[in-house]
Amino acid sequence: MLQQTQVKTVIPYFLKVTKRFKTLRSFSNCTENEILKLWEGLGYYRRARNLLKTSKILTKKYNSRLPKSIVEIKNLPGVGNYTANALLGLVHNKPVIAIDGNVKRVLSRIINMQENKIDFNKFVEVNNEKLFSSKRNSDLVEGLMEFGAIICKPKNPICNDCNLNNNCKYFKSSNKIKSVKFRMKKNKNYDVFCYINKKKQIALKKNNELSFLSKFSLPEIRETKKNKKNNSWKFLKSYRNNISNKKLKINLYYKFSNKIPSSFNWYSLEKNEEFIPTFTKKIFRQVSILF
Ligand code: SF4
Repeated sequence: MLQQTQVKTVIPYFLKVTKRFKTLRSFSNCTENEILKLWEGLGYYRRARNLLKTSKILTKKYNSRLPKSIVEIKNLPGVGNYTANALLGLVHNKPVIAIDGNVKRVLSRIINMQENKIDFNKFVEVNNEKLFSSKRNSDLVEGLMEFGAIICKPKNPICNDCNLNNNCKYFKSSNKIKSVKFRMKKNKNYDVFCYINKKKQIALKKNNELSFLSKFSLPEIRETKKNKKNNSWKFLKSYRNNISNKKLKINLYYKFSNKIPSSFNWYSLEKNEEFIPTFTKKIFRQVSILF
């Protein structure tokens, strides 16, 4: 749940999911729509699907336990190198480091070297004995992440109170490395075409052009082409919609019609049982002003 998302954002979702499902087995028996509904608003919905697939594999193949080999863990849906190492350290106390943005920043500051010049896997290998001497590997994995988020922060690290400042080259150096900035991707413009009817319904379909939402229900969406007018559609408004590091500009068009292409289905603008992603809900709100 925490992939690409801050802890404070995840907490209410985590509480909702763990309140609803008390065991891995009960979670593994839920439907995709149910987990997506609980996830609604958190974004990156692939995580929810992968979590569900993984829970099914763990209950069926591993008796609800996490396997101990990194190869098996990495075979679970949605688990890459970072998550596999985090799980190995946190669950099995293995001597590994989960290298995320926070950990990279801490390590690069300690040696005062730009992140893009460091081979972090080699760094861990070379410093293996020092890093894992306490055998509290699980605490180390968690501690490093927290340390990067709370003390060695991207902006204004709390160096004067930091227990590592005696050994930190960044702290001692007069020529400190610069922090790596989080970059938003460039603007992308999309035209969104909404069929609506007098019953306050909107037509949605799956398999659209937005790759990160392609499996969800959206109106027709196309990348905006210069000099191409959409005469048969009425323009409603333009607005910005940022999704994680993507900056989107949406041009919204609509048409009242009772006939829709066969790939579309009608959805109420007010209440739906099926999961609707936040991106689509925002479209609902814009279109609702027509009624
Ligand atoms: S002294 Fe400052 S830069 Fe160095 S590890 Fe501590 S908080 Fe980070």
